[in-house]
Amino acid sequence: TASDAPAYLEGLNPPQKEAVLTTEGPVLMLAGAGTGKTRALTTRLAHLLISGRANPWDLLAVTFTNKAAREMRERVGVLVGDQVEGMRWMGTFHSVAALILRRHAELVGLTPAFTIIDTDDQIRLCKQVISAAGVDEKRWPGRGLAGVLDAWKNRGLRPEEVPKDDAFQFADGRAIDLYTAYQERLRTFNAADFGDLLVHNLTIFRQETDILNAFRRRFRYIMVDEYQDTNIAQYLWLRLLGTDDEGRSGGNICVVGDDDQSIYGWRGAEVENILRFEKDFQGAKVIRLEQNYRSTGAILSAATHIISHNKDRLGKTLWTDADHGAAVTLRGVWDAPEEARVICDEIEAAQVKGRSLSDIAILVRASFQMRAFEERLNTAGLPYKVVGGPRFYEREETRDALAYLRLVRNPDDDLSFSRIINKPRRGFGDKTLTQLSQVARQMGASLSAAGAALLETNELKGKSRSALKEFLDNIARWRSAAADLAPGRLVETVLEESGYIAFWKASKTAQAQGKLENLKELVQAAEEFETLEGYLDHVSLVAERSGDTGEGQVWLMTLHAAKGLEFPVVFLPGWEEDIFPSGRAINDNGQVGLEEERRLAYVGVTRARERCHISFAANRQVYGRWQSSLPSRFIDELPEKEIEVLSEPGLYGVKAAELPAYSRFADIAADPERSYRTPGWQRAQRARGASTAPALEGAARLVASSTPGSSPFALGDRVFHQKFGYGEVTALEGNKVDVAFEKAGQKKVIATFLQSADA
Ligand code: ATP
Ligand code: MG
Repeated sequence: TASDAPAYLEGLNPPQKEAVLTTEGPVLMLAGAGTGKTRALTTRLAHLLISGRANPWDLLAVTFTNKAAREMRERVGVLVGDQVEGMRWMGTFHSVAALILRRHAELVGLTPAFTIIDTDDQIRLCKQVISAAGVDEKRWPGRGLAGVLDAWKNRGLRPEEVPKDDAFQFADGRAIDLYTAYQERLRTFNAADFGDLLVHNLTIFRQETDILNAFRRRFRYIMVDEYQDTNIAQYLWLRLLGTDDEGRSGGNICVVGDDDQSIYGWRGAEVENILRFEKDFQGAKVIRLEQNYRSTGAILSAATHIISHNKDRLGKTLWTDADHGAAVTLRGVWDAPEEARVICDEIEAAQVKGRSLSDIAILVRASFQMRAFEERLNTAGLPYKVVGGPRFYEREETRDALAYLRLVRNPDDDLSFSRIINKPRRGFGDKTLTQLSQVARQMGASLSAAGAALLETNELKGKSRSALKEFLDNIARWRSAAADLAPGRLVETVLEESGYIAFWKASKTAQAQGKLENLKELVQAAEEFETLEGYLDHVSLVAERSGDTGEGQVWLMTLHAAKGLEFPVVFLPGWEEDIFPSGRAINDNGQVGLEEERRLAYVGVTRARERCHISFAANRQVYGRWQSSLPSRFIDELPEKEIEVLSEPGLYGVKAAELPAYSRFADIAADPERSYRTPGWQRAQRARGASTAPALEGAARLVASSTPGSSPFALGDRVFHQKFGYGEVTALEGNKVDVAFEKAGQKKVIATFLQSADA
């Protein structure tokens, strides 16, 4: 009866309760954004613990991003208290797979001390493999091979399992050989890349039934969030673990997902996994949720409208009890720096009104868009936190320091060895390193082992000999010290004794001070861990600056990283063709790519609880080149009645009528009726004592009059523009030029794109 129901069930709706209480047998929760899937999942975890059905260390709970995993841990912690500490198998697929692999590393030819290499090292290693095989590196770059290998690993394929036809993707059919060579090297280095974590798990489970069965017995309850984004390897992994000892389906696995939020197809995720769940796990109960608890009516309506343009979807109903709320705003601006400025102004205004900065998120399509925001946030003195962006642990000094630690932990880690053998300089020249590599290759051993062997000969003399000896002795000494020292102390010791800190202290470069501070932070981060291994795994897999929780900071991240999260206020900049939808996604995958981009737009809008602000710029610098851009077709897919247009008139040079299908909003601001709603515009007009019926040129001049720089054109010049054709210059402001085009009408364009057409 209701009065007996435990407190943690209160407030859940009936289907959510059903998902929590159906503890036995497979369960699929399939529902749209913000319907409380994750909440039901975390309550289910709590229920299993509180009702005594499972111990914390017997629950397997996986999700995709580190931030989502952390939030899940927090949410469960609120319900169960200290027990959450014991949930070691809760995390990302990668982190759980790494834990399993550490226990059984010997079975795939590694030791428990193996290193997890990151994308950078992966590409370096690919390059080495390509050049060692005599394959043309110009035609077949390391990055390309890394992509091919990732794709295979995402499908759970080992070299011997790759279909022969697939080999022709790369290096004229030699790709499988390169894959084999790459894996051999990794094994010599005692290392694994991200993809290996799962593939090695699969190998172990398939070869050692006893081990698999032990894990099956342990993980009596399995929970997966964001199931729509699992790739084949992850799917196979879950299937192996989620079936019973006799291999029958029907384990207690509960997966949660939304086909409309599948955004990792480009990385090998398969939406089909969610569609075939009922087949694979027989007797699965399917639970649908329809009430959205996250967003206002306007936001939900905007999101629903966008996603309704996708053909390939299951389709579902979503409704909300919440207020309709403020309209979704839409703003066009001149260029990316201005977009950043306008958004930061709004953030400051919101802060003045009492909004906490950590309530606000800026979600971009591509990480290159972040720079403009970081600069502006810095200038404005607004603290911010980048999630999953260019990361602390990817910086030179942190990578160097980590290379030391990895080598201490794993003497065979050649990638780390070659990174630091001469950093700081110890008179160990390139020639000696080449010599050492040759010996290593001949011996089939690592650089450390080859070094030790060389020292037993007379091959090396003088400085190189003493440098190598000292280096190897140091590493060995730190290794034995590692047993007794806490990670923080060890990091400090290594950095001091290796001379690495002294090296930056002596450095005259401008960045040296910052680097020293980062090294200090690294020591601090290590102090939070009990073992060096725990710390290094954290760095490889979690890899974000620790210590700051985002409290009082604006969030800045990509749309992909924002999956599963929510914020009261969300800014979605850069809604322009080619940026979003990404031109590359469409080029590579056509309609399928476009639909995935649209799901990403749906994910973006549905992150917002109260306010959602969309913007686009008329000009953008991509890879250092200016180009003019068109508003995203997704803007055209927004329901007009939910949108408030805030653009300043005439700020961008695109006119709706001439553009293909998507452009309705491009020139809205030039329409007197619509621009009437623009507060900035009204203020400006009033200040000038002008009527509110705007003249396009006037408005443009008004806004841009202070722009520095100059154009090589003069009033009345005849000019040619790639997109708009011939026209005559009617006004000039810095690098921006107003042109009356013969066909396209009045436009504002960048001088760089204009050619003089005077005969
Ligand atoms: P997404 O698809 O984006 O991952 P989701 O379905 O996982 O969304 P949640 O994050 O679990 O949704 O929930 C969205 C918001 O709604 C959260 O703030 C959550 O606390 C709230 N919520 C969920 N269920 C309820 C409920 N029954 N009553 C009130 N609020 C709820
Ligand atoms: Mg969720």
